[in-house]
Amino acid sequence: MKRTKIVATIGPSTGTKEKLKKLIKTGMNVARINFSHGDHNSNGKLINYIKELREELELPIGIIADLQGPRIRTVVEEEIEVKKKETIFVSDVSVDEKLLKIEGKLFKLDWPKIISDIKVGNYILVEDGLIKMKVVSKEKKYLKAEVISGGVLKNHKGVNIPDIKLERGAFTKKDEEDLKFALSQDVDYIALSFVSNAKEIMNVKKKIEKIVKNKLKLPQIIAKIERKEAIKNIAEIIEASDAVMVARGDLGIEMDENRVVIYQKEIIAKCLRSAVPVIVATQMLNSMIENPLPTRAEVSDVSNAVIDHADAVMLSGETANGKYPVQAVKAMSDIISNTERSPFDDLEHGFLGDKKKSTSAAVANSAHELLKDTRAKAIVVASVSGFTAQMISRHRPECPIFVMTNNEKTHNQLSLVWGVQSFVLPDCETIDELIDISIKILKTKKKVNLKDKLVIVMGRPHVTKEHMSLVKVEEVD
Ligand code: ATP
Ligand code: MG
Ligand code: MG
Repeated sequence: MKRTKIVATIGPSTGTKEKLKKLIKTGMNVARINFSHGDHNSNGKLINYIKELREELELPIGIIADLQGPRIRTVVEEEIEVKKKETIFVSDVSVDEKLLKIEGKLFKLDWPKIISDIKVGNYILVEDGLIKMKVVSKEKKYLKAEVISGGVLKNHKGVNIPDIKLERGAFTKKDEEDLKFALSQDVDYIALSFVSNAKEIMNVKKKIEKIVKNKLKLPQIIAKIERKEAIKNIAEIIEASDAVMVARGDLGIEMDENRVVIYQKEIIAKCLRSAVPVIVATQMLNSMIENPLPTRAEVSDVSNAVIDHADAVMLSGETANGKYPVQAVKAMSDIISNTERSPFDDLEHGFLGDKKKSTSAAVANSAHELLKDTRAKAIVVASVSGFTAQMISRHRPECPIFVMTNNEKTHNQLSLVWGVQSFVLPDCETIDELIDISIKILKTKKKVNLKDKLVIVMGRPHVTKEHMSLVKVEEVD
């Protein structure tokens, strides 16, 4: 069974229950709903399908509500093909087209009055930088740009203008509405786009805590790292968030694209040190939007993210609006399994550093040592919040990690965490009962066999702050 998890973005290509079921059966662990697209009605439908399926299939599947953030997008009535060296006019939605009197190709940006912030010489990039143009002259209501790399300009695609400074916080009015809706749907994670610092994350956490009063039902926050400022403030962002996404599309535009692979490695290493789950995202198998097979370079990219020890790898357009969504998940799953069979993804001793000098970290360390010394078949962890599970997972042990939790939310959230297979168990009174019931469940699910040696890591049930207090070796009888 593969250990690195797969996040798949759901969209028109995968928006039916049958298709979603196929994605799950092929290896999707987490579904990402991008609130940049669709509306509450259509996104709500997708969320419901996933909820029905995870119950039917008795599998934890995490649901991410990805909030758009301060993102500029294209407004294109009919798709426009643009070629290198060609001239194209750019306007924005505050301008009435009839007053423009332009002859030639024109598209708009969905930010009112943004034209006044753009200068001659600025670059405009569309769809993760696929199409690039340079502004050559400026009028009051429109810009004239020369195409540097061409393609088909489509509607509602993301736009980057790296050199302009817009006053944009990470949280917009639309995000506010979408957040409320996502919380009403009880999603497992909220992803925040274009965050710059820890404060922005804390602010959203506060908003959430005002609405979700039950601590056991809180969604986790995923910080998307895609701005210069986020790289600068990466330490505090990791500290403040529950998970991190390396959003390579925008990162490669906002910063030197040759450095993105280095940031990816640095961010993953930092997340491992803090036991924060980390996702590598964008264009992983991009050519599969059009083709049934990935390129060699894409296969290497996924494989390398596994070798970097990411918790999860993500599909965007490949599953949202590609022609081969199920094949994309299958390809990803196969690449992961093949890479994990090699020794290259194994975590070398000392890699973790000593960032977490807590008792829990020490207990997790010794559990991991015990695992190797006893050659145990699996490690069994009890976890209410998921924290203990993350502390064990960050060692990337070779054997299965079975996590027992009494919290349905944690169960689904752990679908993002490397190597974890989780199970829901009833409330227990004592540690002995916890161990007995855990082993019974694993036996029924055929996850363990008679005489298997297991390393058990647990804490006392019914304590509010999760910590590990017991490590022992048990044989299945
Ligand atoms: P982001 O910057 O958040 O990644 P994006 O526009 O790149 O936004 P992705 O989630 O990466 O969006 O998905 C890739 C493409 O898939 C989008 O450009 C869009 O065309 C399509 N897509 C994704 N979700 C939906 C949806 N719910 N409805 C329609 N199209 C969608
Ligand atoms: Mg994208
Ligand atoms: Mg291996």
